[in-house]
Amino acid sequence: MFKILKKGHCFNPSDIGVKDILIGCGKIIRISDDIKPEGLFEYDLVDCTGKLVFPGFIDQHIHIIGGGGEDGSDSRIPEISLGDITTAGVSTIVGLLGFDDITRSVITLLLKARALEKEGLSTFIYTGSYSIPAQTVTGHISSDIALIDKVLGVGEIAISDYRSSHFGLQTFKEIAAEVLKGGLIGKKAGVVHLHIGEGKEGLTPLFSLLEETEYPIGMFVPSHLNRNKRLFEQALMYGSRGGNIDITAGEDEGGGYGVRKAMKAVFESGINPGLLTVSSDGNGSIPGINGSKDGVGKVKSLFDDIAGCLLDRELQIPMVAACVTENVARLLKIYPEKGVLKQGSDADVLVLNREDMGIFRLFIGGEVYVKDGTAVKKGRFEE
Ligand code: ZN
Repeated sequence: MFKILKKGHCFNPSDIGVKDILIGCGKIIRISDDIKPEGLFEYDLVDCTGKLVFPGFIDQHIHIIGGGGEDGSDSRIPEISLGDITTAGVSTIVGLLGFDDITRSVITLLLKARALEKEGLSTFIYTGSYSIPAQTVTGHISSDIALIDKVLGVGEIAISDYRSSHFGLQTFKEIAAEVLKGGLIGKKAGVVHLHIGEGKEGLTPLFSLLEETEYPIGMFVPSHLNRNKRLFEQALMYGSRGGNIDITAGEDEGGGYGVRKAMKAVFESGINPGLLTVSSDGNGSIPGINGSKDGVGKVKSLFDDIAGCLLDRELQIPMVAACVTENVARLLKIYPEKGVLKQGSDADVLVLNREDMGIFRLFIGGEVYVKDGTAVKKGRFEE
């Protein structure tokens, strides 16, 4: 069945104006000023007049089999459901382990990614976890990346965190070597996705690594860089040298910077805006403050933060949207299948209401997954 999305204001994520989009067989077949349905066997017409149209969002940091577990067995967060992801406008994800690699494994992560793919999402994972030596499927980071279709890199490798493995510079070099090798042989992005904790060193280990080696800076993706002000200062320095800056949604203005504020700071700093990405840390644990219970990170917080930025007149819509579409797709090397509205790209299309940036439709592979903010396709065990 074909679909024609009529007269939406399209951001690919650059502003390409009001267009019609023809989708079918899971792909974007055509984008032009006026597409006539004559000659199509069967089609749905979706009136997108007055709506904003984007590529489906990409979230490169989700704990799909649940994070947490740092407060005993009952603090292990359950696996995520399809609707938790799609109602955040997200159509492509990278799943990862966190701190707990005792009761959780990369194999379980891989299988969960396959299950979510069966339910319609495009899914990838990182091998490894906080710990070094890294837990893998095949015995090596390099062969996981080279041989397993879904593995794009290693992560989240923890530095500057009391829960990390506190590995030294030589080990850091060796991890990067494995990732580089796997990426080249498997023709993958080969990224080192880093959890940067509250530790006082911040990004210093990464600066040291880059100083002593010739690794391409683009293969490192440090995350949570808005978690505190000191770390964010380092992030701006890192970005000015051409490094990726991944900030985490849902951050409050207490110790760190919220997404909107961090985004503004990066855009005003003169750093290449294509280096900025936003991820959710969804389904991970949010440590409780002053004895309160730990919370669960929501993928939806990514959508809420981005919607807030899209509504902010001081921020340009294409630059905001790129942080969850094109910029992520390029660094993961899944562009132009993902992250862009373009002939031949996958038909993952997010249509938002102009007035409140609520979800009008989310199409994944050309099928409707969210309608008027509600998930219309559910996962196998989802209510
Ligand atoms: Zn993390």
